[in-house]
Amino acid sequence: MSWANYHSHCTFCDGRSTMEDFVKFAIAKGFRKYGFSSHAPLPFYTRWTMNAEDYPDYESEFYRLKRKYAGQIDLYLGLEVDYILNCTDAKRDFFTDKKFDYLIGSIHYLDKLSNGDFWSIDGGFREFDNGMTELFGGDIRKATKRFFEVSTAMIEKGGFDIVGHVDKITYHGQKYRDFDPTEKWFVDLEAELLQLVKEKGLMLEINTKSLREHGITYPHQNFYRMIKDMQIPVMVNSDCHYPTNVMESFEFTYKMLHAIGFRTMPQLFDDGWKPVEFDEYGLKF
Ligand SMILES: [Zn+2]
Ligand SMILES: [Zn+2]
Repeated sequence: MSWANYHSHCTFCDGRSTMEDFVKFAIAKGFRKYGFSSHAPLPFYTRWTMNAEDYPDYESEFYRLKRKYAGQIDLYLGLEVDYILNCTDAKRDFFTDKKFDYLIGSIHYLDKLSNGDFWSIDGGFREFDNGMTELFGGDIRKATKRFFEVSTAMIEKGGFDIVGHVDKITYHGQKYRDFDPTEKWFVDLEAELLQLVKEKGLMLEINTKSLREHGITYPHQNFYRMIKDMQIPVMVNSDCHYPTNVMESFEFTYKMLHAIGFRTMPQLFDDGWKPVEFDEYGLKF
């Protein structure tokens, strides 16, 4: 039995340790496969994304480690690519000109604020709340609807393989009284988006980053059965920023998915993604 993770960060973006540290931890935890997905460069400066000029070093360090640890772990080269409406997406030349094992498509920013910055849905709560007030008059349901609209645009646009933290708006959203991911208005928004994920033939990650601290995965656990019924391929990813979190909440999440009836997860091999059986003790490679 072993584990795999395709969503991870390192010091090339906002991860807190080197690529090699993550590889060492993954090997120690019994991983068979591990993919790097640093936050891809954006067309503007941020403190949390890779700088475009650092990409060649990211690539060369990745290949050095892939060779060094061959036979112990299969390493894969990816990026977590932001979709920002009318600004950036995975079909930019920067991505289409390069060779990746896979790309993850994610949303961290929604619309532009009056100060010219984009509203971050994944930063601190104060920043989230201020933006929500300015852009949506403090109406979390309007903000959520907008999040799903932009998510739909991202999936329609394509250019990536895995949908990253599909309903990330729940991270801060669930702190508001008018927000309940089990209510019909929310379920309908998410169901429509999942249907599109299915139609486009994309893979969906079950992102465990917030499970221990905030009690939720992305997608929310409430949607596992729906995802199973839609037969969307899912993989469990930790979205780790610290080496100690490479398999954060994996056993618990694998167990939940198995109990619902999921039996396989897509895994990357030399000739592409193939379903591999799993249970609560890991993947049956
Ligand atoms: Zn992300
Ligand atoms: Zn991430």
